[in-house]
Amino acid sequence: EPLAVRVRTRPLGGVGHIAVILDDVTESRRVDAVRRDFVANISHELKTPVGALHVLAEAVYAASDDPVAVRRFADRMTHESARLARLVQEIIHLSRLQGADPLPELRPVAVDNVTAEAVDRNRLAAQTRGISVAVIGQTDAGVLGDEAQLVTAVANLLENAVNYSPRGTRVGLGVRSAGDMVEISVADEGIGIAEKDLERVFERFYRADPARSRETGGTGLGLAIVKHIVTNHGGTVGVWSSEGAGSTFTLRLPSYHDDLADGDDAP
Ligand code: ADP
Repeated sequence: EPLAVRVRTRPLGGVGHIAVILDDVTESRRVDAVRRDFVANISHELKTPVGALHVLAEAVYAASDDPVAVRRFADRMTHESARLARLVQEIIHLSRLQGADPLPELRPVAVDNVTAEAVDRNRLAAQTRGISVAVIGQTDAGVLGDEAQLVTAVANLLENAVNYSPRGTRVGLGVRSAGDMVEISVADEGIGIAEKDLERVFERFYRADPARSRETGGTGLGLAIVKHIVTNHGGTVGVWSSEGAGSTFTLRLPSYHDDLADGDDAP
């Protein structure tokens, strides 16, 4: 990327002498560009459900003599407005995570609570889609952070695992301590992700399979949210996938030991 500079001049006392000052504004340009992209993306993403609601409202008027059709259009309006609400909610969530104070709450959080809660949140969806979810391993490790955010991160991964897997397959939620890190992985036997898409799936609104994402009510923001949460907690997220065989997403977070609480750990 070319260097962006801002040129300023300043008179230098003597007649005809000026100083030329070059400021490197590459980084702030980049941040501006990212923000502009985000706004452009949002406008684009909002157009679809808003446009659909508009068309459906007109269809309701046109079909006002036909109660069955009115009902069908009204059902679709309920569906589209739920999508729109979810999209707006996730956009707000993501912009908070990118804001000045993304992690206001710092407390010791038990990893096992996080995984149990994330599984709970996906229990119904997994059941409905005939997918079994098993927790493999356990840890008494903790993480310093915001429990609600960490639950969201793991729940988003589980939600994807369930959404992008065929009926009758299994999802494994693995938990283990690895040195001074805690590892949480979500493995599925689903459709997998093509290599060309792998490094892009964490981008906002990037979907490897737009039709499928739409069908499952995806917003394209789930993994961007995961990535921000994990990064804000000093951790990393990685993905391994094989098309047609499945995917594994792995979160690694610095583990936290409250030495004062279990005093016998002291040297
Ligand atoms: P979405 O709301 O579309 O699921 P995400 O940000 O959660 O958005 O994921 C981005 C894209 O990555 C998805 O649209 C999908 O193509 C792909 N993806 C994410 N998780 C999985 C998975 N477990 N298996 C296959 N594809 C996945």
